[in-house]
Amino acid sequence: MKKIYMDHAGTTPMRKEVLEAMMPYMTERFGNASTIYSLGREAKMALEDSREKVANLIGAEPGEVFFTAGGTESDNWALRGIAEANKDMGNHIITSCIEHHAVLHTCQDLEKQGYRVTYLPVDRYGFVAPEHVKNSITDDTILVSIMHANNEIGTIEPIADIGKIIKRQKRKIYFHTDAVQTVGKIPVKVDELYVDLLSVSSHKIYGPKGIGALYIKKGTKIKPFITGGAQERQKRAGTENIPAIVGFGKACELIEAELEQQYEKLSRLRDRLIRGIMENIPFVHLNGHPTMRLPHNVNVCFEFIEGESLLLNLDMKDICASSGSACTSGSLEPSHVLLAIGLPHEIAHGSLRLTLGMDNTEEDVDFVLEILPGIVNKLREMSPLFAERKEMPKNV
Ligand code: PLP
Repeated sequence: MKKIYMDHAGTTPMRKEVLEAMMPYMTERFGNASTIYSLGREAKMALEDSREKVANLIGAEPGEVFFTAGGTESDNWALRGIAEANKDMGNHIITSCIEHHAVLHTCQDLEKQGYRVTYLPVDRYGFVAPEHVKNSITDDTILVSIMHANNEIGTIEPIADIGKIIKRQKRKIYFHTDAVQTVGKIPVKVDELYVDLLSVSSHKIYGPKGIGALYIKKGTKIKPFITGGAQERQKRAGTENIPAIVGFGKACELIEAELEQQYEKLSRLRDRLIRGIMENIPFVHLNGHPTMRLPHNVNVCFEFIEGESLLLNLDMKDICASSGSACTSGSLEPSHVLLAIGLPHEIAHGSLRLTLGMDNTEEDVDFVLEILPGIVNKLREMSPLFAERKEMPKNV
């Protein structure tokens, strides 16, 4: 049976064209981009060509794009690099409590080093209020880091509004956004978002894993992330992974040309999936905002069941999905994002995230809609809490 892959926020399959573009750089064009003979110059040209493709996708200058080992490294660099380079200006960082762990755990580490971090709450849809950002700024604030869209519930944050507030401050405060989930899904232009730093990851846009980029606006005071050779304009040392960089560049080029068409297709499939679930299964909550959400994201909580059991049962039907509930995240606590939007523990445990991709079809969606109610029913039949339920509330 064909696998139905609906975990594209987790990772995406690499495109054939991307692999084809990479292949020569893994074989005959193996040169080191720092060498001066033709093999090296060829690698250097491929490197700069890819930098331009990444820059085009996010509306940056190629000189403002720095290759990293992925979204996690980009987030680490943005936070640690700004904190360290600007500590003479202050020690306060503002972020939100629904960030990816690449940001949250880095902030926690910075707290241990003496920085002060404000973790802003979100409303029930997962929105960070620009007013909250404004009211949290102090004379010591050096950095604000708010994600562009949440990887679990898909809510798209008002980044441009927050960016404008930060720019209006008298002192320089840097603004970073983790755009790992938005680049290649919705238009992302650094100028329109008023950001100084922006994180991108290749494997979320059908490129290879272990490669990403950090946009660093010209004039930003940031510490190099890795010291060593002069690569990446002396900011991120180490011989460049040319095949991965070429693949990443190709993925950016392809997705840029298809952005509008993909947006239309994915949001249509997403809405069909959400409608089908909400209309056919009782005791369901839609997580995230109904419209201000990523075009490929569906996230729901089913009362009276555990997300992991649901995933295992879907896997038996060859459907790949994800859940923000306990075991999958490696902790006993349900997802910090679902708790932050105010869901009680018992409901947060029953979460299911389905994230669509370019190969998904209406038939895939209909197959999931055919299978899901039966699995949910079966699991609820085994739940003592379901047997004790009092009334049938309306879905929200
Ligand atoms: N930030 C967000 C919002 C993500 O969703 C992810 C990956 O899931 C990352 C950062 C980490 O990216 P990478 O897997 O490239 O390290």
